[in-house]
Amino acid sequence: MATQQHGAIAATDAHTLSADKETFDLAAGHELRVELDHTTQVAVTVHAGDAEVFGTPLGVGGRTLVVGPQKVAVYTMGGARVEVQGSPEVMYVGEETPMRQYINVHDVLQAQRDACGRGEAGADGALVAPPKVMLVGPTDSGKSTICKVLANYAVRCGSSPLFVDLDVGQGSLTVPGCVSACAVEHPVDVEDAVFPGEPPVVFYVGSASPSENADLYRHCVERLAGVVEERERRDAVAGSSGILVNTMGWVEGLGYELLLHAAEVLKVNTVVVIGQDRLHAQLKKRLGSGSGKVAVVKVAKSDGVVLRSKEQRQEARQRRVEEYFYGLRKDLMPVSQTAKIENLEVYRVGGGPKAPRSALPIGATSVSDPLKISKVGDFRDILNCMVAISHASSPEELLNANVAGFIYVQDVDVEKGTVTYLSPRDGALPSTLMLAGTYRTYFD
Ligand code: ATP
Ligand code: MN
Repeated sequence: MATQQHGAIAATDAHTLSADKETFDLAAGHELRVELDHTTQVAVTVHAGDAEVFGTPLGVGGRTLVVGPQKVAVYTMGGARVEVQGSPEVMYVGEETPMRQYINVHDVLQAQRDACGRGEAGADGALVAPPKVMLVGPTDSGKSTICKVLANYAVRCGSSPLFVDLDVGQGSLTVPGCVSACAVEHPVDVEDAVFPGEPPVVFYVGSASPSENADLYRHCVERLAGVVEERERRDAVAGSSGILVNTMGWVEGLGYELLLHAAEVLKVNTVVVIGQDRLHAQLKKRLGSGSGKVAVVKVAKSDGVVLRSKEQRQEARQRRVEEYFYGLRKDLMPVSQTAKIENLEVYRVGGGPKAPRSALPIGATSVSDPLKISKVGDFRDILNCMVAISHASSPEELLNANVAGFIYVQDVDVEKGTVTYLSPRDGALPSTLMLAGTYRTYFD
């Protein structure tokens, strides 16, 4: 079981670490909640007992830096003495947490993984399937956090689930506008709040909300489902660990339909609903009976979950893009490059704006194809957009291929016929075949 050893890592310049110290004696089942903005960090030392941050254990004696902006909880199952150095914006002990419920869910999933790995048959005589779990709930219910908790517990039990992130707005594996997946092989690194390991498999939807092109979103989820199936075929051991799917907080109307679609194509067999009786009842009725029966369970939302405003969400998205290029602690060096537009093949998806009904002949319906790709002619249209470098080898493959990485369009000079973009690294791009998104973001 991996523990965090960050004693050697220096405090980053941008984050203050004050000398203030406070020690907490946490009773069994309590958690210390620490909220840090982007200017602060704290060092957490466990002096005795057991302590973990969203399922990642903190070893006794080790010193873990937690760098803002982050909101974390140091939870203890059996009681712990924890020292915090630094001055967080908010710090308090939560005496009631739903962690026990989350652990119970994990225990059931782990038993299923083990039975699947041993090739056991279930009560119905069929082989036990790997747990394919989807976490759903409204915005700010703690979906991403519970995914982390469940993934960390699985890894600590020797499993390696595939984490699938379908949240194009607040995903945790890559830049906004993507659906992605990665194998979880180590607990989340508390300092960075990321899953260490191989880069994720990424499909580019190109916008921060699936409503802009729901067909494209569905298409990308279907491609990702193909990746999941491929992994199961290739590696039975990894396959028996199953998948954990994080979803977006849009649970009404089209958002709800997209959840159902994802559950179907990813062959989800367990849905965990966070804190909403209505959604739980709705999903149970829809998925919980019949032949392809899905277990639909409900868990409570934690009081520790911190609400985020629309502006904070926008900021978080921009920060993701910055982190992609500059690194979590500004340790990467992206380069700005200028290229001839004629040498690049940038495509976009969608039939463009639909003609208003009034402009069509009577009886005709709009025929724009949401999955139509067309070459971007005027690069000013993609100024300040993220453009994905595709693994596709022809334009026809663009929609079905995952992406190698991203560039950011910084400047377009129509007269000179050039585009200036920010690239994660120096040198030629791995491909000149690219897919542009519509999501715009601004940073230096
Ligand atoms: P979204 O709808 O934006 O995707 P979400 O439902 O995924 O939100 P989270 O991102 O899991 O919610 O939680 C929101 C914030 O609350 C995060 O910063 C997370 O670290 C924090 N948080 C969650 N649980 C706790 C807790 N028990 N104590 C302190 N902070 C917490
Ligand atoms: Mn989330």
